[in-house]
Amino acid sequence: MKPIHQKIVSLALIGSLTAGSFAFAARVEEKKKDKQGHVKNVIMMVMDGTSAGATTLARWYKGAPLALDEMASGAVRTYSAESAITDSAPAATAMATGFKSNDKYIGILPSIVNSPGVASVPKEEAKKPVANVLEGAELQGKSTGIIATSAIQHATPAGFSAHVEHRNWFSDIAEQQVYQNIEVVLGGGKEALIPGSGKNNRKDNENLLEAIKEKGYDIVETRNELLHSKSRKIWGVFANDAMAQDMNRPYTRANEPTLAEMTKKAIETLSKDPDGFFLFVEGSQVDWAAHANDPVGIISEVLAFDAAVKEALSFAKKRNDTLVIAVSDHGNSGITIGNRNTDQTYPETPVSAYIEPLKKAKMTLDGALSRLQPDRSNLEEVAQLYGLDRLTAEEKKKLSESTDLRKTFAELLAARANLGFTTGGHTGEDVFLYTYGPNRPIGTFENTDLAHIMAKAMGFDLHKLNKRLFVDAKKEFEAIGATVAIDRTDAANPVLVVKKGKKIAKLPVNKNIMHIDNQTYELEGLTVYSGERFWIAKQAIHLFETAR
Ligand SMILES: [Zn+2]
Repeated sequence: MKPIHQKIVSLALIGSLTAGSFAFAARVEEKKKDKQGHVKNVIMMVMDGTSAGATTLARWYKGAPLALDEMASGAVRTYSAESAITDSAPAATAMATGFKSNDKYIGILPSIVNSPGVASVPKEEAKKPVANVLEGAELQGKSTGIIATSAIQHATPAGFSAHVEHRNWFSDIAEQQVYQNIEVVLGGGKEALIPGSGKNNRKDNENLLEAIKEKGYDIVETRNELLHSKSRKIWGVFANDAMAQDMNRPYTRANEPTLAEMTKKAIETLSKDPDGFFLFVEGSQVDWAAHANDPVGIISEVLAFDAAVKEALSFAKKRNDTLVIAVSDHGNSGITIGNRNTDQTYPETPVSAYIEPLKKAKMTLDGALSRLQPDRSNLEEVAQLYGLDRLTAEEKKKLSESTDLRKTFAELLAARANLGFTTGGHTGEDVFLYTYGPNRPIGTFENTDLAHIMAKAMGFDLHKLNKRLFVDAKKEFEAIGATVAIDRTDAANPVLVVKKGKKIAKLPVNKNIMHIDNQTYELEGLTVYSGERFWIAKQAIHLFETAR
């Protein structure tokens, strides 16, 4: 199969004509590296849906520099193959695989390409799975880990560990994650691992928790269990769906670990591998707070993410072999410090006018609202939890008339804190790039560049990896004289059946397993059903030919 090179024309060059001395040309710092220029460890950290205004606000709130600050090294362009404003699935796909993709798509090529400068993808390649940096790291012999404060099957961690046509296909994503040989998996999303009747429970009747146990993981469900685990393989399921927002955790779910604790434990565990590690960390919930235009939630989650960055940074600073990248996948909410209140007054409005109203909040928007009685009898108490103390008559009126308290609470607090929000959705501006370590990238990058930078740092090439990990099963098996069919006896678990003479092979979807007659082989990649085709590791062809 021909490799697909999705070339992105550097629009930045056009910009440089007018940008004077601004250095658009991205460069790479040449220092501290081995002979091949490789690093041992890569830690990729994504704060979901975080605009620049969010980090500035979090810094003012904290009253001290963020751990991120010293790492600022450039900007990242986030648009998808089809849209100026990306959603998390194609954003994660871009950063993990090096390909801009389409809405909902996880780890597969786009079927619609219309963004300027993005090369089209041949029709027959649409929805083809493409290798991610975690898979590359595994094949380099490194240990790997994924961490999120959402369900671990959520779009961004999924982009770094799975290949499916829709981000909501938690069952398939969960199964693929279980069969990726990832050493440390920490987050929410227990629901998608076990059968049941819940929204995200498995409908294929497989109990993945059992599979995880059989694979030798230490399954931990609380902060204590995590911190005391001595295992080299840890699977943490700390919530059925999402984990608590950081600020609310002490009041609501104190037995969940913080993002910083998960990050520290993952680094301790993975760094025991002499070949190094790749770790993906997501602060998942800045995005959700931004969608709700909740400045308290945004601050809570940015600071929780920053504390995790501090752990990664403190590990990296003790050595010279670890590249840390932190970035947001896209902006969200158009958050601004300053709004229509400050049209005339901004030159003399002090920091306190923005921060003090926020400091009064004890919980995030959703945390406070979770305390509301169904009859709203404690409305003023709940408002106070969210920092809305000493309500004015006008505020009281707005609250009593509100049909959407979540919206009204957020609007009242934003008005008090002189913050602006332009949308409840994502936004298309560039995001900051933060990096630390050998060969750290400096400049303006495409989100897809990050995948190639990480791959190069770890010593592999994603285009080569694609030829190794995802070949068209039908085409390749037929080329060696075999026939293929799909067994859909169990509709939720289709199996690719390959026959040649008396030899029969079976490859279940979403797993890295091939049964040939009575033997079971573990493959170096997943079997993926996408674009109405089965995609398998090339190794499977050779194994089939040479078996027995
Ligand atoms: Zn996102």
